[in-house]
Amino acid sequence: PRQTQIGLMSHEELVSEHESQTANYATLKTEKLTLDLTRGKPSPEQLDLSAELLSLPGEGDYRDGTGTDCRNYGGLHGLPELRAIFGELLGIPVENLLAGNNASLELMHDVITYAMLYGTNDSERRWAAEPALKFLCPAPGYDRHFAITEALGFEMIPIPMRHDGPDTHRIAELLAADPQIKGLWAVPNYSNPTGVVFSEEIVRELVSMPAAAPDFRLFWDNAYAVHPLTDTAAPVFDVLGMAAAAGNPNRPIVFASTSKITFAGAGVSFLGASTANLDWYLSHAAKKSIGPDKINQLRHLRFFKDADGVRAHMQKHREILEPKFALVLKILEDRLGASKVASWTEPKGGYFISLDVLEGTAARVIALAKDAGIALTAAGSAFPYRNDPEDKNIRIAPSFPKLPELEKAMDGLATCVLLAATEKLLGK
Ligand code: PMP
Repeated sequence: PRQTQIGLMSHEELVSEHESQTANYATLKTEKLTLDLTRGKPSPEQLDLSAELLSLPGEGDYRDGTGTDCRNYGGLHGLPELRAIFGELLGIPVENLLAGNNASLELMHDVITYAMLYGTNDSERRWAAEPALKFLCPAPGYDRHFAITEALGFEMIPIPMRHDGPDTHRIAELLAADPQIKGLWAVPNYSNPTGVVFSEEIVRELVSMPAAAPDFRLFWDNAYAVHPLTDTAAPVFDVLGMAAAAGNPNRPIVFASTSKITFAGAGVSFLGASTANLDWYLSHAAKKSIGPDKINQLRHLRFFKDADGVRAHMQKHREILEPKFALVLKILEDRLGASKVASWTEPKGGYFISLDVLEGTAARVIALAKDAGIALTAAGSAFPYRNDPEDKNIRIAPSFPKLPELEKAMDGLATCVLLAATEKLLGK
């Protein structure tokens, strides 16, 4: 019988497979597609779930429960009632959680910039005055995290991602020896792009392992804390409490936002940390702003009402997202399962599927797809310096396209994966 595993095919079988994928690709190109699987953006249908926000809080409603007039200046911490809702969801006491403006990335950038300019509350000098600055980057990871630390001049050290979190042996070894390592990027729940959920053991290790730098920080980006795609949501660990218990209360700084809950671009961001960290952060933030957009916070408060309101809302997102993830996984299995030239994640939440193609072909697959009108995130995007050492990783973002478009894009992508694999194995 004809071999289906591409790696085990005879030369003749391989030539014939290459011919049929070349033909598939030629057909694909005649379709003149313009499809986009690049960014993890909510679809218009998902944005419609929060349509009511556009008419909230409504004329005459501008005071929160403490009587604050949200139209006016002030209130650097953000509205207490909204902080209480997200504190419950993120496992953070309300006094340790701030509510900010529309982007958590801005908060991450601010924290690192303040540390560069002034040093942290645990620093011996400002970070900009250090002889060298290094950052640990679990990879595949989020390209915009890496963009921040690249722009600010950190040497980024890739850390392998495992099924239950980053490789803590490697991290422990580096961290204990090198005081120039100032931070680690972490997406503990449904990581971008692998969908990995950090285990409790990994979280415990990260908050307790010795670090040579007294001002080492975990940049704990819980962007997908409430974004399960199954009935059992992954737990959100009390990272601040665990760090305090381990004697490192100032190590984690937690970030989150409603970008993938309400409106990406017009949501509310959150920053959680120890009291000492918050005092430090606020002392600098107070120079930058008199306070966040409290009207937007009030409208989110009115919309959700309580933490259960957020959970119920996320269930509606799930109903829209689940069929899209299922479709992507089905096409991957149908088109690439038997060939064994690719493997992929089956995330239980979040926004992404991470596809690993035959080593040395990811850039070629992405180029082939682009020529056929299917836009994918640039090769290597999920790695520091866009350098995927094995040239095999492709991030798939299924949320934005409609199902028929997603189907076309994924089917086209599968053709590109098979064509590139046969090219590679034939030495073309
Ligand atoms: N963190 C992660 C891990 C993300 O995937 C995203 C969105 N793609 C963000 C942060 C962006 O968050 P925000 O819109 O709050 O800046």
